[in-house]
Amino acid sequence: MQPLVDSWGREIKSVRVSVTDKCNFRCRYCMPAEGLEWLGREELLTFEELARVVHVLASMGVDEVRLTGGEPLARRELPKLVSLLAGIEGVADLSLTTNGVLLDRFAGPLVEAGLRRLNVSLDSLSHVRFAEITRRDALDRVLAGLEVAEGYSELRPIKVNCVAIRGFTEEEVPALAELARRKPYVVRFIEFMPLDADERWDGDDVLTGAEIRALIEERWPLVEIPAKASSTARRFRFADGAGEVGFVSPVSEPFCSSCDRIRLTADGQLRTCLFSRREWDLKTPLREGATDGDLAELIRWAIRHKELKHKINDPGFVRASRSMSQIGG
Ligand code: SAM
Ligand code: SF4
Repeated sequence: MQPLVDSWGREIKSVRVSVTDKCNFRCRYCMPAEGLEWLGREELLTFEELARVVHVLASMGVDEVRLTGGEPLARRELPKLVSLLAGIEGVADLSLTTNGVLLDRFAGPLVEAGLRRLNVSLDSLSHVRFAEITRRDALDRVLAGLEVAEGYSELRPIKVNCVAIRGFTEEEVPALAELARRKPYVVRFIEFMPLDADERWDGDDVLTGAEIRALIEERWPLVEIPAKASSTARRFRFADGAGEVGFVSPVSEPFCSSCDRIRLTADGQLRTCLFSRREWDLKTPLREGATDGDLAELIRWAIRHKELKHKINDPGFVRASRSMSQIGG
């Protein structure tokens, strides 16, 4: 089949698949304390439906699939989905983004099902500050989950993602950099984006990748590692060879011109940008008997409308139609 290319010449190679909008954390930069109104069970795509969409995407050249949410491990049968997706021809890279709180239990079954890459979110190594940011006292569980995951050598790289927020993250940087030096984890700092359900985000809250890099280099010099053109992260190794850190800087250094990603929400809506105001319904045609060819045409049409860039830094920026946990980060 013809590759998936948008109107700006970017080839789509990667899909983030949200399996649920539910979560057992309440991170301040993502969800309100009281949670959100969750989707009904019948609104969620089944694993078979998700696999069908991924199969159609893979036939059009999408080779990277990342499972996310909400908290993807809140869907307890997740290893079944991993096994379905791992068996799809063309899916070369299958990964999972999780808050890690159930990872001690799930790492083994996930690896067995075919998972090969893992991203764990972790914003602080202090119990008090972890609880402050996630509104859950679960640091030990997350660290235990990481330990168990680390025991599976098939699961590499393990990335630890930290949302960088001014006034909070500066204090966390030394311990997180030290974690990257001490453990086989690539620690990545991701700039805070206006996708929090509370709508509190302000441009001044963004602690930039460059600022964090400077903080790390006060103690440990870094050397840049060349990255793929479509990579969202700038990668650096410690000059003394003791590990790697990365910076994902969508606000201060947007990478839209090389964006090769789309997203599928848990209720079967295709999104061509995190900041889209428009979604493309795949669930209805899926449930009304659309053929693979019909779905491919619909997807191709949506991709033709992929946004040129996000407009976070433009005057009059309008927030996305849903928040991060509802889209799938
Ligand atoms: N619950 C899982 C987790 O936290 O890893 C997966 C879903 S979560 C929405 C995916 C990623 O989005 C996490 O790394 C999280 O830190 C990040 N995220 C959430 N809200 C964000 C925001 N407002 N700006 C930047 N990143 C955000
Ligand atoms: Fe849940 Fe992930 Fe959002 Fe935190 S960032 S509230 S863990 S979905």
